Formats: sequence, C-alpha cells, structure tokens
Amino acid sequence: MKKRLAIYPGTFDPITLGHLDIIERAVSIFDEVLVSVGRNIGKQPLFSVEERTEMIERTTAHLDNVKVTYFDGLIVDYARKQGAVAMIRGLRAMSDFEFEFQMALVNRTLFPDLVQVFLMPHEAYTHLNSTIVREVSSFGGDISSFVTPYVADVLHKKFHINNED
Ligand code: ADP
Repeated sequence: MKKRLAIYPGTFDPITLGHLDIIERAVSIFDEVLVSVGRNIGKQPLFSVEERTEMIERTTAHLDNVKVTYFDGLIVDYARKQGAVAMIRGLRAMSDFEFEFQMALVNRTLFPDLVQVFLMPHEAYTHLNSTIVREVSSFGGDISSFVTPYVADVLHKKFHINNED
C-alpha cells in the first residue's frame, strides 16, 4: 500500500520543543512526515538552511518515520511533487488562527487534494515560538525548557561565542 506522507513546513529558526510536539503527534497518524524548511525569501533567518536542517535532524533522531528537507517557492507545489496527502500546521492559540485559516484556504484552492491538518501542542508549549527562543538566548537566558540541549548549544555558540572574536 502507498505510504501516507504528510508534509510539515515551517521556518524552524530554530526548531523548538513545540515543533517537536507537533511532529510527534503527526508521526502517530501518518506513515511518514516530511519536515520541510522554507527558504523564505521574505524572512531573514538567523540560521542557514543547513543549520536549521541539522537541528531538526538531531531533534527528531528518535523518530524513524521523519525526513527533513527544504523547499523553495510554493509549499503546495513542493507537496505535490513529493506525493504528500496532507499538510500539518500547529495551532497554539486563537492568534494563530486567522493567518493559518487564510493560508489553508489559499493552499486548498491551489491543491484541493492536499488535506490540511491542524494539531494542538501540549499546553506547556502554547506560548513558545522561535522568535522568543532567539531573544531569550541572545540575552543569555536559560532556554533549556524550550529547545533540545543540542539546539541550546548551537544558539549559545551563535550568540555568545562567534561574536567574541
Ligand atoms: P512559520 O514561519 O511557517 O510560522 P514556524 O517554524 O514558526 O514557521 O512554524 C511552523 C509551524 O509550526 C506553524 O504551523 C506554527 O504554527 C507551528 N508552531 C510553531 N511553534 C509552535 C508551538 N510552540 N506549538 C505548536 N505549533 C507551533
């Protein structure tokens, strides 16, 4: 039988425990989950695509049915090329809803067969986003409850070691 592949796109700058929570829920309902890093021409990410990909790979190393890739351009085009049957997005609070709803309707118009799946993280992660993690880390704050130790280390090096020379 054909594998049911879901695509989980995002910026992941960097991946947080909130993203991981969504990925773990997604793997329990799909055969394979493709976590796809958007190169996002509109955004100026802190980490390169390679750095973000590596952090996702390490954060999801315990999950067999997760693959990490990146994409350019429209996510629906990429999803179609990969043979995805669904697209995963995380919903933290009402504040996410309007943007996600709009995107989902646009994506559904462009690719009607791609099912849009919204997953809610554990409430411990509803306040969490990559921007907050970057900010706390840049000021030397403790981010150990927001990201994996590897990601915390990469952030620490980015802000507090590379800049010292
Ligand atoms: P984007 O730039 O597309 O919002 P993100 O990497 O910030 O990319 O997020 C990717 C997806 O993960 C989005 O659907 C976002 O709502 C969701 N997400 C981000 N942080 C969390 C979190 N703490 N809990 C649940 N979902 C989250």
